[in-house]
Amino acid sequence: MINFSSIANIPRIIFNPKLLQPSLTYQNFNEINFELLKTKHSIKYIVLDKDNCISADKSSRVYPLYLQNNWNNGLLKHFPLKNILIVSNSMGSSDDPGFAQVHQFQKNYQQDANISAVLPILEHNYKKPGCQASIIDHFQKTDPENTVKPENIAVIGDRLFTDILMANQMKSLGVYLQQGVALKKSSPWIMLEQGIYKCFFSN
Ligand SMILES: [Mg+2]
Repeated sequence: MINFSSIANIPRIIFNPKLLQPSLTYQNFNEINFELLKTKHSIKYIVLDKDNCISADKSSRVYPLYLQNNWNNGLLKHFPLKNILIVSNSMGSSDDPGFAQVHQFQKNYQQDANISAVLPILEHNYKKPGCQASIIDHFQKTDPENTVKPENIAVIGDRLFTDILMANQMKSLGVYLQQGVALKKSSPWIMLEQGIYKCFFSN
């Protein structure tokens, strides 16, 4: 389905292309240094994209090679589950009737990770980058002892026009995964983003 939230921002991006500039770039999830996010960048909350970030495209489980490595030894070692939120423009969005994909993903995660804890996944009406308030509200509810500040949130994803744009609009830390699980070279949007990144933001 068309992402009006992203398209509506095109004039703003033309006037200010730096809205698409990541703060940090890694090739994929297993490369992310979560300890550095916490200690050097003062990150307390992690927003994770799903497709091609923590999962293969359209998959309903955490990519096994990530779950066995940086998921447990990096992400969960440095951040409690309540400070982590998966925000997808497919699962949990208006494209997911009854949030069936959310329930399936949470069930698969409990099986794959062999735990009873429920993986936090945002159920939202506005797609990225338009669900910024819902993200702050979510963390404020799960962490009522502290005031949630956008600069303490890292948004991790493989798309400049949704994940990184949202991070920069929120004044959070945008962490770009340039390849992800598998780069979809057949998508003109994704190849345009790769070109923009290489032209303007890779050194
Ligand atoms: Mg993605």
